Amino acid sequence: MFVGHYGPALMGKAAAKSVKLWHLFLAVQIVDVFWAIFIMTGIEQARVVPGFLEASHLDLYHMPYTHSLVATLVWMLAGLIFYRLVRPAAGWSGAVIIALAIGSHWLTDLVVHTQDLPIMLDGPMVGFGLWESLLWSQVAEVSLLLVGMVFYLKSTSPKSGLGRIAPWLLFGFLLILQAYNQIAPPPENIQEMAPLALASYLLLAGAAALTDMTRTSR
Ligand SMILES: [Zn+2]
Repeated sequence: MFVGHYGPALMGKAAAKSVKLWHLFLAVQIVDVFWAIFIMTGIEQARVVPGFLEASHLDLYHMPYTHSLVATLVWMLAGLIFYRLVRPAAGWSGAVIIALAIGSHWLTDLVVHTQDLPIMLDGPMVGFGLWESLLWSQVAEVSLLLVGMVFYLKSTSPKSGLGRIAPWLLFGFLLILQAYNQIAPPPENIQEMAPLALASYLLLAGAAALTDMTRTSR
């Protein structure tokens, strides 16, 4: 899953006003940030198999440290403690929302991934496989993002005219990246793809920071 992950991030902002939107954008993708780093460094493995699934060219056969359920619980706990320490102003409630945002990644991935998500580090493998349908996987991703948008728009108000259009610019940017992801030819290999994925997560966190500056919590 790609842009669908940002649905829970936008919902998180409605639940915790003291948490910055870009922190939530990073939290929901933190395991994919580390996935990209682990792929680049060989700690985890994947390969590009064009047409592997209708909506994904990636055979994600070894990612125990970023995409197992047991590792997700560790990432959530680490995120909880880290956020409580670096941003005490957000309180425990803010830290809990960050931890839940981190955990949302595994649940939303579970819907689209084929059986490549381990429960423990070495299995059993689970995944509902919605990526086998290009249409329905995109419907799921965009719907989740739209629900997040509704939560965000209802829980914040624009500081100026810019604040009215900024969330829609962010939404459009996300849709363009999602469409590019699906339409672009498969990458040559996974080592070419991982740094691009990493760059897109960081870019989107930056875009979320800019968007959030134009709005204020209600
Ligand atoms: Zn993932």
